[in-house]
Amino acid sequence: MKNDENKKNNKAKKILVGLIVILAILILSIILLSVYMNKDKKEETELAYTDLIKEISNGNIEKIEMTVGSTTLKVKVKDQEEEKTSIVPSTEAFMEMIQQKTEDGKEFELIQKPRSVISQIATTLVNLLPTFIMLALFIMIFKMQGLGEKGKVYEDTERKSKVRFDDVAGLDEEKEELIEIVDFLKTPEKFTKMGAKIPKGVLLYGKPGTGKTLIAKAIAGEANVPFISMSGSEFVEMFVGLGASRVRKLFDKARKLAPCIVFIDEIDAIGSRRTSSTGAESENNQTLNQLLVEMDGFGSEETIIVLAATNRPEMLDKALLRPGRFDRQVTIPIPDIKGRLEILKIHAKDKKLADEVNLESIAEDTAGFTGAELSNILNESAIIATINKHDEIENDDIEEAVKKVTVGLEKKARVISDKDKKLTAYHEAGHAVVSRYLETQANIKEVSIIPRGVAGGYTMYKTDEDKYYVSKTEMQEKLIALLGGRAAEQLVLNDISTGASNDIEVATKIARDMVTKYGMSDSLGPIDFQGKEPYEMQLFGENIGDKIGLEVKALIDIAYQGAQQILTEHRDKLDTIALTLLEREKINEEEFNRIFE
Ligand code: ADP
Ligand code: MG
Ligand code: ZN
Repeated sequence: MKNDENKKNNKAKKILVGLIVILAILILSIILLSVYMNKDKKEETELAYTDLIKEISNGNIEKIEMTVGSTTLKVKVKDQEEEKTSIVPSTEAFMEMIQQKTEDGKEFELIQKPRSVISQIATTLVNLLPTFIMLALFIMIFKMQGLGEKGKVYEDTERKSKVRFDDVAGLDEEKEELIEIVDFLKTPEKFTKMGAKIPKGVLLYGKPGTGKTLIAKAIAGEANVPFISMSGSEFVEMFVGLGASRVRKLFDKARKLAPCIVFIDEIDAIGSRRTSSTGAESENNQTLNQLLVEMDGFGSEETIIVLAATNRPEMLDKALLRPGRFDRQVTIPIPDIKGRLEILKIHAKDKKLADEVNLESIAEDTAGFTGAELSNILNESAIIATINKHDEIENDDIEEAVKKVTVGLEKKARVISDKDKKLTAYHEAGHAVVSRYLETQANIKEVSIIPRGVAGGYTMYKTDEDKYYVSKTEMQEKLIALLGGRAAEQLVLNDISTGASNDIEVATKIARDMVTKYGMSDSLGPIDFQGKEPYEMQLFGENIGDKIGLEVKALIDIAYQGAQQILTEHRDKLDTIALTLLEREKINEEEFNRIFE
């Protein structure tokens, strides 16, 4: 059976590759043909359209050659050896124009040639291209449906997970909670004899990269049971009607393999709140309903545990959380300093680190990083060390990797205009100066106008403590710091730019959360307004939406004024930092602090 599937997959792949090759050849030949056709045109001298009109009016033209369907003419000017080419905006307009101009007897010979064979072939190919692409798409869709039905669900079922709890760093409490599941899977009788109902579903909440998939695999690995996985987005990306049937097939397989783990990643993609709307949403509803049916369907005699992961718990349909479904929820947090160190240690095992490298200090510098980001840092640092021709991974390789992972690649080569540089310098200096005068904001680690990724520059903060709570004052000041960039642009250049768009996005989200999630608005009080249906919102009054909007706007306005006030008051510092940035592109912590002494 497995062989059969493999064969099918291979065949599909071969057909796909074949199609891509054919398409590539077609496109290439079209390009070559058009280059070839343009080649001899370019060599001739060109006559501007306005000059052509002038020459026609003056009666200086002897002969014009037109090719059907082309706006390029061959023109023979009287008393000139060489023929010239001229490009007209449109052949119709040109014909009209010559009729007017030649009325008073300034005649010339007008030859209309049929298209050349080559250009006919090229045009035919171009015309056929959409047909080819459609054909290729149809075949691909056909094949993918086949794969969806046959191969994909079963992909890694036969393989048992090799991941163990020891491979998951930190998360001690979470592992303790989940070790029970391992016991259920290993010796279900032990529990059922006692009359205990084995849990069916466990929902793992946590940001991307915090190790949800990893811990799910570790559970399967520890229990030595098959791990069947599928991503919620895979259910919905497919074609209408397929989502529900894939859920059914997934569970059919699980029943055959039980005891086993079914892992549904990104469950929010299918499990978002059901609505009564039509179209894509009702398709989602079908998939979700099927999932609920399946989960309700299997009894305690089949030991199937469904693990699901999401980073948007608020999006989930409440029906998923009812008893007998995902009635257990485990939050997978972002690692704290101890967790970060352990994660770094695990991923440093197979890396060649220099003795000088101190994982503790990396852990200190990476507050807020997820496990995936930390593992990424070590991997990047190995790549950077190789490029830098170091024998081992050194501290500066790691430092560069940290930056690379945080804000994307350093792009020193990108050419930036002086005006943009000045704008960026003041923008970043704005963030930095404002933050410096805000009690709750972290110290500055580095300010730079070297572009990284899409950002023109960046301001890096020293975050050396793990925070569990954030106060209102801190959030207000965070807004001021975020708007410091835009405020500086306005103050110094008397104009604003698109460079602040990310700051504005983040600030708006914070302000909205303050009002609607953390109950920090005095007038609206501690009420959770997030993710409420319209009828639920109405309970808070007719114009509650407007009130929320005004509160959010007020928070932003006050913060922006705050930023402007600080910058006006400390204009000298703003100028000094911006000018230093323009000169040296980068200011580190000590240099920054020296300016304020
Ligand atoms: P999620 O599913 O939450 O998005 P993943 O489990 O896919 O995150 O994590 C991606 C990778 O990050 C893992 O394969 C692993 O290399 C690393 N990682 C994340 N968290 C941890 C952890 N707690 N311990 C060790 N490695 C981790
Ligand atoms: Mg994952
Ligand atoms: Zn900014």
